Amino acid sequence: MKRKRVLICLDRDGTIIDDNHYFLGSQKNWKNKIRFLPGVILGLKLLKKKLPNALFYITTNQSGIAILDFPLLTEKRANEVNKYLLNLLKRKGIRFNGYESCRYVSPDYVKENSEYNFDENLIRNDPCRKPNPGMVKTILKKHKLDKRNTNIYVLGDRASDVQTALNISGFGILTPFKRKPEEVKKAKKIKSNHSYISKSFIDACEFIVKRETIYLYRFTTNGEGVFSAGKRLLPKELIFEVNERRKWLIKPNLFKGNYKFYLTEKGMKQYKKTLYLSHKKYLPNIKMEKVEISGIKLIIYEDEYQVVEKLV
Ligand SMILES: [Mg+2]
Repeated sequence: MKRKRVLICLDRDGTIIDDNHYFLGSQKNWKNKIRFLPGVILGLKLLKKKLPNALFYITTNQSGIAILDFPLLTEKRANEVNKYLLNLLKRKGIRFNGYESCRYVSPDYVKENSEYNFDENLIRNDPCRKPNPGMVKTILKKHKLDKRNTNIYVLGDRASDVQTALNISGFGILTPFKRKPEEVKKAKKIKSNHSYISKSFIDACEFIVKRETIYLYRFTTNGEGVFSAGKRLLPKELIFEVNERRKWLIKPNLFKGNYKFYLTEKGMKQYKKTLYLSHKKYLPNIKMEKVEISGIKLIIYEDEYQVVEKLV
């Protein structure tokens, strides 16, 4: 079974913490100004619990670095804020793998924010600036991953966060922020089946969990797995038929012990077309159990059709 890695990129200001347009880090007392937004801690804890192997990153455009009116907000300061925030989260039991931040502003941004003075050297359409996917690319590279073997999510309070995901074949989720209501309208204009406008941060997290939960199927009769007990339960004349019909299903080499056999979604569909028909002839009480793969303790074998659990 091809299981993809999950990468969750979260925007910082207006998504994880409150952003009152003061450009966190531009003032001396910035540490006291960090406020987690409602649902963020609960939502992140849910993601961590349900997707323990996912990678978590902050991806943040730090336009304030390019603004000369904030002399205290240097790249160094912006990184201090990021590190401080990741530490706060870690103390709450939420470990991030790191952060990426972009110090460049686009010429369009400069036009839209003409009340500020900008550092000329930091004005350009840089690949790192969202909606460009440069920061996500850097993270993938760091972990020797690529977009084909990774389910990428970008969460944020702006339509440009959603667009960032789409620009790297990921899934974009808008987490609406009360100070940026216009972003919901902008995000609605993005027509894609890989975007979602969430009701809240928690809703966004639940959406990811639902999308990433892999289910397995187990067919049993009188409490016994049909595959493990097939030979004992079936009469001799059916064994040949069953063996013919199970040719698509690889028989894994297992040592002595007790196992449970599960089918993947693909395996379940194939089973219903083939073996099920033979099994049904003598085992009318076949029942199907549906379980989450994350609940299985010891997987010792898996392919595209089946998963084998060793019972300890
Ligand atoms: Mg933001």
